[in-house]
Parts: sequence; structure tokens; C-alpha cells
Amino acid sequence: MDLLEHRGKSLFAGAGLPVLPSRLACSPAEAQAAAVAIGLPVAVKAQVKTGGRGKAGGIRLCATADEVVAATADILAMNIRGHGVTCVLVEQAVAIARELYLAISCARTHRVPLLVFSAEGGVDIEEVARRKPGALVRTAVDPLLGLCDYQVRDVVAAAGLDGELAGPDGTPTKQALAGVVRALWRLYHESDATLCEINPLVVTAAGAVVCLDSKVTIDDNALFRHADLKAEAHAAKEDREARAHEAGLSFVALEGDIGVLGNGAGLVMSTIDQIAAAGGSAADFCDIGGGARADKVATALDVILSAGTARALLVSIFGGITRCDEVARGLVQVLGHRRVDVPVVVRLDGNAAAEGRTVLADAQILGLTVAAGATEAVRLAVAGAAAPAGAGALQAGPKTPRED
Ligand code: GDP
Ligand code: MN
Repeated sequence: MDLLEHRGKSLFAGAGLPVLPSRLACSPAEAQAAAVAIGLPVAVKAQVKTGGRGKAGGIRLCATADEVVAATADILAMNIRGHGVTCVLVEQAVAIARELYLAISCARTHRVPLLVFSAEGGVDIEEVARRKPGALVRTAVDPLLGLCDYQVRDVVAAAGLDGELAGPDGTPTKQALAGVVRALWRLYHESDATLCEINPLVVTAAGAVVCLDSKVTIDDNALFRHADLKAEAHAAKEDREARAHEAGLSFVALEGDIGVLGNGAGLVMSTIDQIAAAGGSAADFCDIGGGARADKVATALDVILSAGTARALLVSIFGGITRCDEVARGLVQVLGHRRVDVPVVVRLDGNAAAEGRTVLADAQILGLTVAAGATEAVRLAVAGAAAPAGAGALQAGPKTPRED
């Protein structure tokens, strides 16, 4: 489960990581009251589960209460890469001297937590690695030993901070940075996270170290150990239903691990039954109804993917008034721009099915398999959900005798 910035920051605060005073606001009036309570200037930040909010205009620095009201109204009206904004975080603004990058993530290929630090935040890490290798630290944390002191020292050395520098409370900046690295590891470990990222981690003009952003992902399999977070996952589920409803889609979240997208309630429900009969279970279903255009299909796919619970995706379309090529274009709209880690199986039959298959073939999407029919599609999706992550594209087998 991905956490919004404000939720990640409340975990940060609980773990002793330095964050600035902030308040959540869902209207311009609430934002104004928050700004008055915190003290101007403030940063008004869109709360959406996608990065690059700064570039999209979802983060505004405001010096007056009027600016806060205007910025909040603007941001609440925005749609950032398919995500509507329902709340903003109003946060005390700071004067930034330097932007750093710090993250701990689960490196699946190496099967270890990986700590990554860059003395240059906000820039492409690969570029820093090339241009200034000493400014980068990439180190595996032994899950049994935990973070070692030498690893913390490596980060502090790579930061290249002036040894004399100290924060307003007299704490040496180097020492504050070391504290952040240790606290982030503790948080990662204790909250069963698969990602804890601070980008940027800043050194303020006054010499303090502050987490200006947060990106936290909690392992869904560990949610039972975190009752408070589990309740939020439930609320997030309701969010998705509301978003789908707004787009004219019928969406229902279920308990399994195969995301299902289809046209028509009957087709979708029989698909879910077929999945169960084949030994799988549906994570949710999204019915795009009749005659859906590409945009609607893209939203449906995005709603399914946003939960992050699906281990495979099954798109089953029997085109009547719905054109299969239109559906294919909607799929390409999303899958052509976004890496999806799970296998996607598509069955297209009926109206414009051949054209739809051509659209998918031309797009050459990695991990996407076009099945010969509904039964084969179900079989491939169930096998895909059961396969280890990253197993690659599925092999379409010979047609079974009863295949349609
Ligand atoms: P992201 O774009 O979604 O990653 O959002 P961030 O929270 O990382 O903010 C993007 C950028 O906005 C940061 O890199 C900062 O440069 C800037 N920013 C955010 N808050 C403040 C602030 O309080 N003061 C100043 N000067 N800049 C800020
Ligand atoms: Mn950021």
C-alpha cells in the first residue's frame, strides 16, 4: 500500500525523523486557517499518490493568506496524471541550501533492503553516478545485522557537508544526517515497508536537516500487523470505488489477486466464476459497460492498478457496441507509458477484434499476452498470478477443444 505524503510524514514524525509543522486541508478556507496556525510563508502541496507534483504545478509556495486560498483552489481543481486532488498539505516553508536524496527500498533482484543516498537530490541518480561517483552511496543492508555504523558514515561522508555546519539548536548537521539515516532504517524495518524515500532531504539555510517529502510503501502482506494502516487501506478502497463511479464505471474491490476488466456485468461475473473454477481469485472487477471509449478504458485500468494488489490482470472483452480497437487503444494509453510489473492477459472477441489485436501487436507491450479466447485468457491469468513476480510473458498454449 502506497501512503500519501502526509501519512508518510506522520510515520516519519513518530520515528523521530525531522519534519516541518504541517496540516492537512481539504478546502481553501481550511488551508487558510492552517497557514495562520503554522505561520507564513507555507508550501501548499497536492496529496496524490504520484511523483513529480512539483513539475506538474501541484506544489506552491505562498507568502500571504490570499495566496494560500488561491493556490489551494487551483490545486484542488487539478488532475495530476489521472489523480484528482481532494486534499492539500499546508506546510511551513523553509529556505533550502541543499537538496539530498535518501531511500531504502526492497531490491527484489538482490533480495535485500537497499539503501541509496545521493548528495544531489532532484537530479537523475544515474547521472550523478556517472559524473560524481563519490556523491552516491548504494549499499545493501543485511536484514539480520541491520544497518551498520560504517554504512551511516559512508552516507555522511558522501554528503560532503562542512564539518563546522550546525543547526539552529546547535546539533552538528553531520550528526543530524546520521540520525536521519538510522531513523529511516528503523522505520523501514518496523513498519514492514518495501519503500521509504525522502526526496528531497534538505539542508536548510540555517543548517538543519529536514525531510521535505515522503514516499512510503507498506507491504500489503504485513498489514495485519498494523491495525491503523489497515483501516486506511480500507478507506483507500472506498476512494477507488468513488473514482470509478465518477468515470461512469462499475467497480468492486474483492479479496483475491487477479484484476478483472470487462464489458457488461454478465461477462464480468462469469469471468470471475471461471477464474474461481480455474483455481484463482479476483482482486476486483471493473465493468466498462457498453461502448466505452479509450479514455474510459484507461481510467478503468488505472483504478485497478492503483491498489497494487493485483498479481495479474485479465481484460476480457466481447465487443458488441464496444469496439475492441477502442479498448486496445485505452490499454496502450496506460501500458505504453507505465511499467506494470504483473502479467496482462487480453481477450478480444467481437466488434473490431482483429483491429484491436493489431493495435496491441503494434504497441509491443512487454508482459502483455493476447489470448485466443476467454477460457485460455482465464487459464493464463490464473497461471500468471501464481507465478513468481517478474516471471515474464506468458506462453499461449494450443487451443483446448472447448475453446470458443
Ligand atoms: P514531488 O515533486 O512530488 O516530488 O514533491 P516534493 O515534495 O519533493 O517537492 C518538489 C520541490 O518543491 C522540492 O524539491 C523543493 O524544491 C520544492 N519545495 C517543497 N517544499 C518547499 C519549501 O518549503 N520551501 C522551498 N523553498 N521549496 C520547497
Ligand atoms: Mn519529491
